[in-house]
Amino acid sequence: MLSASQPRKISKLEWSIFAILVISAVLSFIAIPALAGDGLLYVWFLDVGQGDAIFIQAPNGNQILIDGGPDSKVLQELGRIMPFFDSSIDAVVLTHPHADHLRGLIEVLKNYSVGKVLENKIPCDSPECLEWDKVEQKSEMVQAEAGQIVDLGGGAELKVIYARQPDARANAAKNAHDYMLVTELEYGSESLLLMGDAEKNIEQTLTTSSNLRAQFLKIGHHGSKTSTTAQFLDAVRPELAFMELGAQNSYGFPHPDVVKRLDDLGIKYYRTDIDGTVELTLDGENYKIK
Ligand SMILES: [Zn+2]
Ligand SMILES: [Zn+2]
Repeated sequence: MLSASQPRKISKLEWSIFAILVISAVLSFIAIPALAGDGLLYVWFLDVGQGDAIFIQAPNGNQILIDGGPDSKVLQELGRIMPFFDSSIDAVVLTHPHADHLRGLIEVLKNYSVGKVLENKIPCDSPECLEWDKVEQKSEMVQAEAGQIVDLGGGAELKVIYARQPDARANAAKNAHDYMLVTELEYGSESLLLMGDAEKNIEQTLTTSSNLRAQFLKIGHHGSKTSTTAQFLDAVRPELAFMELGAQNSYGFPHPDVVKRLDDLGIKYYRTDIDGTVELTLDGENYKIK
């Protein structure tokens, strides 16, 4: 017979209930919605100063980063968006090996576990390219080819629109922009054309060779006057455009001619130097901007 003062033994059933409660508490903590994917496609035009970095979360939660900006600022920006315990990114894309796109991506590869790297690899012997060659060994490198389709998951796709095959002329120090990796993000009826630093020669090639209509456009080369021609804008006819550039940058981006071309066609645009990081959310038919 048990006396009233004796400590009560905890039954096996009570232990089991306790264990289940602890496990479910841990699981609900881990299953933070941002990781699981919520059926929406998110695009963040990250404010990384003078350079490009675009982070995408597919409707199923997969994460893709296109370019990394000029330095480690991209890590702070990703830290604001990604849950603190998330240390992996499914894929990164390098549009071309210029420092304002590549340096931050090196930091990302050093700090995150990255599944795949998509790039149009051309001969490059700059210090950042040599470092890039080392850090990308940890990931699976995929050579880009026009026409490739990357399944991002949850119905979203990234299509390679332009990637001139590396030939004897290819030289990062001389003509990296001619070997630009241009992609288009598609989800339902919505699409975003991502021009990297493509200039008017590539714009012209694309305008004559394919149907370029896209609802959203990340304009080429930070608003330089050598990109975003009126003919190109007329072919794409975007509803919204996005520019990635640094405040008071030394290049004078965006060029007033580019701003005028956008204004003349009534195309509303966002720019990271003024708007900071811009969040575009797509559900396949409608969009939101934050
Ligand atoms: Zn650039
Ligand atoms: Zn460039």
